[in-house]
Amino acid sequence: SLLAGLVVGLSGGLLCSLILMMRLRNGREIQTAIRRNQFHIVWQPVIKAPEMKFTGVEVLMRWAHPSAGAISPDAFIAWAEARQLIVPLTRHLFTLIARDAPRLSQVLPAGSKLGINLAPSHLHAPEFKQDILDLVDALPPNHFQLVFEITERDMLNENEASDVFNWLHQQGFEIAVDDFGTGHSALIYLERFKLDYLKIDRGFVSSIGMETVTTPVLDAVIALAKRLDMTTVAEGVETQEQARWLVDQGVNYLQGYLFSRPLPIGELIEWQARQD
Ligand code: C2E
Ligand code: CA
Ligand code: CA
Ligand code: CA
Repeated sequence: SLLAGLVVGLSGGLLCSLILMMRLRNGREIQTAIRRNQFHIVWQPVIKAPEMKFTGVEVLMRWAHPSAGAISPDAFIAWAEARQLIVPLTRHLFTLIARDAPRLSQVLPAGSKLGINLAPSHLHAPEFKQDILDLVDALPPNHFQLVFEITERDMLNENEASDVFNWLHQQGFEIAVDDFGTGHSALIYLERFKLDYLKIDRGFVSSIGMETVTTPVLDAVIALAKRLDMTTVAEGVETQEQARWLVDQGVNYLQGYLFSRPLPIGELIEWQARQD
């Protein structure tokens, strides 16, 4: 009977998590989570090479689910996209950013860069431009240089993309191509759109330093960014060896656990106080 109890217990747990998964997938859970304030944000420092100075941050979303625990943005952003909930979720993200912004401006001087990830479906939504203008209105005036991070697949609808990118540039924002090299190849558009930053995916960075491994694609990506006059940002930098190699190659900014994990605003302020 101990065994039977164990089996029932196990399958009960399994059933619970299956039901939870289904509720999560149908999207209602995301709306409830917004209302109940289960989403929060963390800030990851971005370091300028070669002087290794803290000059900006990227904001990343977190979901503390009461029964499922921490849910990764890789999962819930995709669910929100599939359920047409990206617009409300991103608006909520913007209110969280605005809430932290006064404290953030204490550790980052005027002109510092604030990176925000945008989901493809928001970029192409009719509300997009107004949402961005509302965000700017809610931030300390003229303090942060906003950098919107998009992925390669956002560039595939060429006419729509060029309208949005031109508008963002006219408004004085910068644009970064995120996860470069992992999605559809949009090389031709890189030339056409004149975007500002190329973020080198952590998959490339993690191969640096394994002695017998050469890095032909990474070498080519860095050379390509230079030719296109794009500023490079390497993400997922975890070791001194990776940092040194990237700085030697002329990569402009570094981000990763070597410097700091993404932190809640209070911890970011403490982290900054420990830097020289
Ligand atoms: P991303 O934009 O490529 O963000 C970088 C991811 O790498 C983050 O994962 C960050 O925590 C992680 N990371 C940073 N440094 C290191 C490191 O040294 N080592 C390792 N192993 N990982 C590192 P996270 O926070 O789980 O976010 C995953 C993805 O979810 C993000 O990838 C982004 O595409 C998406 N995401 C996160 N927040 C948002 C958001 O607010 N809006 C949208 N649209 N997408 C978001
Ligand atoms: Ca990003
Ligand atoms: Ca990335
Ligand atoms: Ca990613």
